Amino acid sequence: MLRFYSTILFAILATIALILADVSAIAFIALYLIVSVIVFLGVIKIEMQFFAKSLCRGDKTKQEVAITFDDGPHRNTLKVLDILDKYSVKAGFFIIGKKANENPDIVKEITNRGHIIGNHSYYHKGAFDIQSRKKMVNELTKANETIKSFTGEENKLFRPPYGITNPIVGYAIKKMGLISIGWSVRSLDTSIKDPDKVCRRVYKRVKPGSVILLHDTTKDIDVILENIIKYLINNNYKIVSLKKIFGTKFDI
Ligand SMILES: [Zn+2]
Repeated sequence: MLRFYSTILFAILATIALILADVSAIAFIALYLIVSVIVFLGVIKIEMQFFAKSLCRGDKTKQEVAITFDDGPHRNTLKVLDILDKYSVKAGFFIIGKKANENPDIVKEITNRGHIIGNHSYYHKGAFDIQSRKKMVNELTKANETIKSFTGEENKLFRPPYGITNPIVGYAIKKMGLISIGWSVRSLDTSIKDPDKVCRRVYKRVKPGSVILLHDTTKDIDVILENIIKYLINNNYKIVSLKKIFGTKFDI
C-alpha cells in the first residue's frame, strides 16, 4: 500500500481510538497536526515514496553514483555535454517538452552523445501539480510524444517537476505506466548562487548509490559539474548511467 493511504488509514484508526478513549480536543489537534506534517513532507519529498514509487538511489553497497539534469534543453546544455564527454560520463536529462520542440538541435546532441532523456512535463508550470488528472495525463503524453520524435522509442521515464508528488501525479504515473525517477542528492544549484557552495553541498551528501540532481539551466553548471566529477573520481566513485545504477528496476 502506498504510504499516503497507510497514513490516512492510521489517522482514521487513531481518531476512532481517541473517541473511544474520550480524550480532550488537544489530543485530536495534535494528531491532525502530526498527520498534516507527514502528508506535507510526503508532497515535497519524492524520496518518501508517499504518492508514487520513485527510484531515488541505487545499490548502497556499490561505489557508484549517477548524475542527472533537469529543466533543459538550454544553451548551457552544450557546455554540459562537452564536460561529460571529457570524462566519458553518461548522464540522464529530464527535459521539458516545449523547450525540446524549440531547441531540437540541442536535444539531438544529448541523444547523439549517448545520454538518456526522460519526461519532465511539457510546460513545467507552477500549477503542474494542481491541474486535473486528465490534463496532467494529456500534458505528460504530449511530452512523451516529443521525446519519441527524437528517440523513436516510447518513453517511460518521468521526473516530477519540483520533485512534488500528490494523488494526481501518482494517478498519472500509474495510468501511463511511467517509471518515476527521483534523486538522493539535491544540489540546490538553482537557488545557491555560489558554485563552490553547491559543490560542497554535494560532496557532503554523496554516498554509494547516490543519484545527483543538477540543472543544465544553472549559470555556472559547467564549473560545478567539472568540480563534482573530479571530486567523485578522486574519491573512487564510478559515475554510471541511470540504467546501470538502477539495474533491473529500470525495466519494470
Ligand atoms: Zn524542473
